[in-house]
Amino acid sequence: MQERRQKVIMLADAESFYASVESVDNPSLRGKPVAVCGDPALRHGIVLAASKEAKAFGVKTGQPAWECRRLCPEVIFVRPHMSRYLEVSLEMTRIFEQFTDRVVPYSIDEQFLDLSGCEGLWGEPAEAARRILRQVREETGIRCRIGLGESPLQAKMACDRFAKKRADAFFELNSDNYAAHVWPLPIGDLFGVGSRMKAHFKRMAVRRIGDLARLPREIPRRRWGVNGLLLWLNARGIDYSTLQPGEAAERKGVGHCATLPRDYASPQEIETVLLELTEEVCFRVRALGKRGTTVHVYCRGADFDRPTGFSRQKKLPEPGSAAPEIYPTARQLFHRHWDGRPVRALGITLSGFTDRRCEQLSFFNRREALDSLSAAADEIRGRFGPTALFRAASLTPGGQLFNRAKLIGGHER
Ligand SMILES: [Mg+2]
Repeated sequence: MQERRQKVIMLADAESFYASVESVDNPSLRGKPVAVCGDPALRHGIVLAASKEAKAFGVKTGQPAWECRRLCPEVIFVRPHMSRYLEVSLEMTRIFEQFTDRVVPYSIDEQFLDLSGCEGLWGEPAEAARRILRQVREETGIRCRIGLGESPLQAKMACDRFAKKRADAFFELNSDNYAAHVWPLPIGDLFGVGSRMKAHFKRMAVRRIGDLARLPREIPRRRWGVNGLLLWLNARGIDYSTLQPGEAAERKGVGHCATLPRDYASPQEIETVLLELTEEVCFRVRALGKRGTTVHVYCRGADFDRPTGFSRQKKLPEPGSAAPEIYPTARQLFHRHWDGRPVRALGITLSGFTDRRCEQLSFFNRREALDSLSAAADEIRGRFGPTALFRAASLTPGGQLFNRAKLIGGHER
């Protein structure tokens, strides 16, 4: 039998993720030192992310706001918009899923892709990686760096230790070059080595990753058991773990966000967009065969100097996947938290999924009727496009459905 080709695993890591999303949403921040920070007015406000311009001053994630200000007096503090970051992260997942069905999010800004056997579609792994980088950049404005390897470990090491320092934001490790590149690195750079292990290794005169790799495997194993053995394997670039693509389907939520063409101040106009977004989210949740139990509403005010807005969620009275089940709660949430000031962006996320195929039946709700109505609407839109069937509200001045349909083009559905 012919020997199987090695696996091709890619880790895509969004650069300065939160700060980058803020700069995409607010172009006046581009090229400036930006720190996303809990509450800079409070002394315990902590930097959650910093733009590369801020990092150049020594600003780091986890620093208190006052220290950040001391290092970089002209830093611009921005409050975090978590649901927006989640939305962009899911958008990136959708782009990755155009390249492979085996995408496994590792964190909000890092995702693994298994590209094994995709050479015929996207070319050599390095070429595929560049293509993916470019598409994410064009569609989301976010820059990623990419580590490529034959296992998740190699991809992670390639990304964290090398791609970050490269101008082309890309690096490839494999069994042939792993020792040459990785062994000279300090032991603390090895995936899985924390400060405690680092201290242990130092006492054993294990300073570099190669020092550990060259030890007989019995030494770390006897000392630290399975964990020691795992680290020894990591040092040798060996990783038996496999990606579980099922995890990608187990999405935590589906969300949609719209930046409005102008600032909206009228409740009717805002409600129209909320309803449109709800429809769109419900369509995608139904396509997954799920219902959501929690609705999340995100609103960003129009004034960048005085950031307003909110991000709130509420449990639904019953799991739902049709707009009439979701919208009343979304609308109520919005009005409870809206300060009445003009709005720049709105978002709806549905999460806490239950499976439609196995659920409690209820005698008293409209679910069956709603389900068949939704199914008919989905079929019509599936065949004739997203604007084949719409709510009359979308024709009112605030409606964004037609703009969005144009923007999304053929690529989303
Ligand atoms: Mg990152």
